[in-house]
Amino acid sequence: MTDITYEKRKIPERHITRCVGCDACVRACPTRAWLDTSERPLLKPELCDGCGLCIIACPNDALFFPDVSNSRFPE
Ligand code: SF4
Ligand code: SF4
Repeated sequence: MTDITYEKRKIPERHITRCVGCDACVRACPTRAWLDTSERPLLKPELCDGCGLCIIACPNDALFFPDVSNSRFPE
């Protein structure tokens, strides 16, 4: 069975070609949801609370919230 609550949470997505691996998102995240790697950071969605601070911090506009209003899941 699908966990609807999990699926509907706002989790940042990334235009991967815009990401330069600067780690600004890693530093901005209060819940340490971004895992610092040797290349681009990886998001651990279970740790994300959807605050949006990483989106604001990204210098290349690589991060965005998906449009959850078009979700296939009902309110
Ligand atoms: S802040 Fe933006 S460009 Fe920098 S690593 Fe994160 S997603 Fe990539
Ligand atoms: S939205 Fe907030 S909690 Fe989620 S990854 Fe970005 S900074 Fe971290």
